[in-house]
Amino acid sequence: MRVRFDDLGEWAGSALFSEYDPETETIAVNLHVLRRLRATHGARFATRFATCAVLHELHHVRVPGASEASAHTFAHAVCGDDPRIFEAALRGASR
Ligand SMILES: [Zn+2]
Repeated sequence: MRVRFDDLGEWAGSALFSEYDPETETIAVNLHVLRRLRATHGARFATRFATCAVLHELHHVRVPGASEASAHTFAHAVCGDDPRIFEAALRGASR
């Protein structure tokens, strides 16, 4: 299992936070989002985002077919941050 940072672009009109590639067993975290959150909310907040994103993808890997909601719940429970705060921060930053 590896983690890389890359510009993942958008999905369904909003920034894609992370994705998992089973072929290379790599979790990719959106570098563009990370940089934007670091600029607007500081390095610690950006690190919390990356941690949450990795946990979210790990849940998908460990529980095949897991819903988005259950991946969010898992990440929230482990890292302590509600993933929605990152979405809200990003929306605020883009205005
Ligand atoms: Zn997901």
